Amino acid sequence: MIEFTCPHCGNVMRVEDHYAGRSGKCQQCGSSVSVPMGHSMNDSAFGSPPVGPYAHPQSMPRSGSNKPVLCLVFSILGLTCCFPFSIVAVILGHGAMRETMKGESDYTMALIGTIIGYVSIGIIVLGFVVWAFMILLSFALTAV
Ligand SMILES: [Zn+2]
Repeated sequence: MIEFTCPHCGNVMRVEDHYAGRSGKCQQCGSSVSVPMGHSMNDSAFGSPPVGPYAHPQSMPRSGSNKPVLCLVFSILGLTCCFPFSIVAVILGHGAMRETMKGESDYTMALIGTIIGYVSIGIIVLGFVVWAFMILLSFALTAV
């Protein structure tokens, strides 16, 4: 069996040895992918395994794995300086939580970032409502 990772979505696939060097469609995202040349997992007949980008497919970074970190950074930026970052953080956080498993550190990071994002959006919305109320109140007072 050959194990390799889809360069488009990070899906790990296992195919029979005779598919080595051929191309096909990723089972997850449907992009065309090429199967790396014969790195067989239970293969000792060819001696040392080939060294290359496919030598250790399991250790290749998953696509979108930096989302939880970005989510956390954006949520803090949104809270401290620039409000639009909070919206980005919430969107990133939801995406990251879909891609990660509950219990993983990435999931926890994304969850914290999303919560901070929502809290800062809440603060801004509340502040806006209070501000609008004050404006209305001052108009009402000057009209009298
Ligand atoms: Zn794919």
